[in-house]
Amino acid sequence: MVKRDPMATGKGQERLEADAIVIGGGVVGCAIASALASDRSLLLLETEKRLGEGITSRNSGVIHSGLYYAKGSLKALTCVEGNRLLYPWAAARGVGHARIGKLVVARDAEDLAALEALERNARECGAPGIELVTRDFVRAKEPTLEAAAALWCPESGIVDAVELARSFAADATAKGAALVTSARVLAIERAAAGWLLQTERGEIACAQLVNAAGLHADEVAALAGVSKYRIRPCRGDYFRLATKVRYRHLVYPVRRPGSLGLGIHLTLDLSGGARLGPDSEFVESKSDFSSREGKLPAFLEAGRRLLGDIGPGQLSYDSCGIRPKLEGQSDFVVSRDLPGLVNLVGIESPGLTASLALARRVRDLLD
Ligand SMILES: Cc1cc2nc3c(=O)[nH]c(=O)nc-3n(C[C@H](O)[C@H](O)[C@H](O)COP(=O)(O)OP(=O)(O)OC[C@H]3O[C@@H](n4cnc5c(N)ncnc54)[C@H](O)[C@@H]3O)c2cc1C
Repeated sequence: MVKRDPMATGKGQERLEADAIVIGGGVVGCAIASALASDRSLLLLETEKRLGEGITSRNSGVIHSGLYYAKGSLKALTCVEGNRLLYPWAAARGVGHARIGKLVVARDAEDLAALEALERNARECGAPGIELVTRDFVRAKEPTLEAAAALWCPESGIVDAVELARSFAADATAKGAALVTSARVLAIERAAAGWLLQTERGEIACAQLVNAAGLHADEVAALAGVSKYRIRPCRGDYFRLATKVRYRHLVYPVRRPGSLGLGIHLTLDLSGGARLGPDSEFVESKSDFSSREGKLPAFLEAGRRLLGDIGPGQLSYDSCGIRPKLEGQSDFVVSRDLPGLVNLVGIESPGLTASLALARRVRDLLD
């Protein structure tokens, strides 16, 4: 139960107190709130008016299998574990999702070598159910696709990310947590028994503090006295694809060594819509979501390489998301940097897939 102390600030304002505070109401913060709320009083603080409006509402919504990450990395471990945990959670809570499977398609000999390397890495990381498959297998799944071979990932799927975040939040409130929106955290100081936060909704004290502030996690860590993180925003744009072909699976190119993202791919949404994206572009701003229609030629070329003939009239600008890339580090950081403070920084893809597993890591670090 969160406590109210009306005299504590000495300014006539009431001060809230909780055992733990989670900063950030995205899919990761909400999963953490759900994991921690069983055995402590908890407040989740979110800048925006609604939960899930940050990176959580601007991504591909793919439940990844864990193909791409270095063996033993936090990304690899939490992606595979998160994939296993996410399907039963979504099914039990009525969160929109579909286990549609994904094809990583090799077009030529150079792609084939990279595909085999990807398969080896995926097996070492424990990616579930993956299989190298022939052109005929690909044709049976997606009759219009040209491929020399592919990696079939039957446990990849799609999920409504915002609904997922809200299902975690609903679980946390059912366990007694309080979710406070329009409550940006402005300052953080060390207090005798933990932490004292100044927020847009007043002062709040807690013993344990979790920073799950997405793109702003470096700034929030710095407020608490940890200045070693720097997030570089990396934008990814999407174009909507209008097509008569009814794709039923996610279709990815083989990732070229050294590329920033996974390569422009075909993602599907739960209503059957298709998009191409995201590309990768480092940008200055964490909040500039303006349209980039000028990228049409590049998307057309990438789309044709992946799917065959596409006309310019079939692609229209859709939206973008911004990845919180952590400078000098390619893995997720989940770190107990000070007593009672856990920072989650650089939670880019596969953070949505990994959310339940990341929440378990945080609980282990705090208990
Ligand atoms: C283009 C793109 C595609 C992606 N595709 C996939 C995918 O297909 N599959 C996958 O698994 N992952 C994907 N990801 C990654 C995934 O979307 C993220 O890892 C995940 O959404 C991160 O969630 P979060 O809760 O950490 O961040 P957010 O959703 O951004 O939540 C952080 C919250 O903190 C709040 N906040 C910030 N500062 C403060 C403050 N001072 N006080 C209070 N609140 C604050 C923000 O308002 C925000 O709501 C993709 C990401 C991008 C950008």
